[in-house]
Amino acid sequence: MDSKEFRERGRELIEYVANYAETIEKRRVTPNIEPGYLKELIPLVAPENPDQWDDLMKDVEDKIMIGMTHWQHPRFHAYFPSGNSYPSILADILGDALGCIGFSWAAGPACTELETVVLDWVGQMMGLPMDFLALNESGKGGGVIQTSASECILVSILAARAQAIKKLKSQYPDEEEGFLLSKLMAYCSKEAHSCVEKGAMISFVKLRILEPDDNFSLRGSTLRKAMEEDKKNGLLPFFVSLTVGTTSCCSVDNLQEIGPICEEFDAWLHVDAAYAGAAMICPEFRHLFQGIEKASSLNTNPNKWMLTNFDCSCYWVKDRFKLTQALTVDPLYLKHNFDQKSIDYRHWGVPLSRRFRSLKLWFVIRMYGVEGLRKYIREHCRLAKIFENLVREDQRFQVMNKVQMGLVCFRLKGSNGLNQKLLSLINASGKLHMVPASLNDKYVIRFCVCRETATEADMEYAWNVIKEYAQDVSLLYKD
Ligand code: PLP
Repeated sequence: MDSKEFRERGRELIEYVANYAETIEKRRVTPNIEPGYLKELIPLVAPENPDQWDDLMKDVEDKIMIGMTHWQHPRFHAYFPSGNSYPSILADILGDALGCIGFSWAAGPACTELETVVLDWVGQMMGLPMDFLALNESGKGGGVIQTSASECILVSILAARAQAIKKLKSQYPDEEEGFLLSKLMAYCSKEAHSCVEKGAMISFVKLRILEPDDNFSLRGSTLRKAMEEDKKNGLLPFFVSLTVGTTSCCSVDNLQEIGPICEEFDAWLHVDAAYAGAAMICPEFRHLFQGIEKASSLNTNPNKWMLTNFDCSCYWVKDRFKLTQALTVDPLYLKHNFDQKSIDYRHWGVPLSRRFRSLKLWFVIRMYGVEGLRKYIREHCRLAKIFENLVREDQRFQVMNKVQMGLVCFRLKGSNGLNQKLLSLINASGKLHMVPASLNDKYVIRFCVCRETATEADMEYAWNVIKEYAQDVSLLYKD
């Protein structure tokens, strides 16, 4: 493809994308296909000779689109939102065109510096203490974009582990590191995302999963008891991951109680605010972040709730040297003349290569303005309240979480089986898409406001579909 054809096809593709967005409602939200559908439709061997663009695009429509779960569909209420907006899409095109791999300052000066500045922007938008910002010249903090929240949590565990082993090694210089590793204990709540467990598994450290209170919030007293018990048994509590906005029900662990305990035990405190962190740009939510100054690190994903396409997970640390100490390897071929006075983001994460991801966040913030982003978040919260009220007005149903952001967890009064059947009928209809969660062993249905331009009519539509299938399931299904 030469630049002439690129221009032509590029215009066509932008047209296709805009049409897709404008007419998405005409498609089923979830596909009506079975696993393995695609291998019946496309060759299983790559073409030896070039294909025609038009044939390719025809296959996109006929073979790929029929296998899509449409995350931007107005009837998509599963998981959390998948950030998406025109400015973000355009920025990604630009980033792809630049094709730079900004693992060091020298390999991508603008890529590195924009990332630092934009992370400071987002940090300030969220009201983070100056300790987390690179612009605070007297501090050691700063932010970086990782691929995912899972990666943010993994690198936090790795940094905390390195610190803890260093501390133990100074106390017990004759002990093997492998033995010292066996003494480390990490903590999270039962409601924490499974990526904490995965991070601990990869890092080969023990993880104690604690019971939250009746509001699905991890409390200081529970953590303290567990840490004291473990310490008495010769273990070293070294890492705590708490969540602001849990995946199952958007509950919030008690940061104010937990922060001082982590400080007392000299444990690394990570705050996972993958979804809910975005709400901190609205001052009325900041009370949920009270105590954040005690955290060692935190993450939020603009690729969830800040209109920025995947991948874009913002991660801040209070002491970047504690992070880089755990992750630095320095071969000659990656060195450059400015490495003593610049940031090389390759030391801040697992991969070496990295995309120019800050571009899309920069585009989004500039094109919406912070006020535009606040308006978007507040509207999602308002709509979730409307949906919650619809559920509450119907005596057959119950709301199962405290609705403070865009997520409502509800269920039919009755057995888990009944609710499972209800959700499976709704999802099979292709009229709406939601996913379940388990809260205190109760099967609940999660309804998340996801679409950028979601409306009250969308809430009513969804509620009508749910009521229709609730009627059917109550008649047809008996435990
Ligand atoms: N943490 C929370 C609270 C989440 O809700 C999620 C995903 O929904 C994750 C972590 C994992 O996110 P990622 O896919 O970015 O690893």
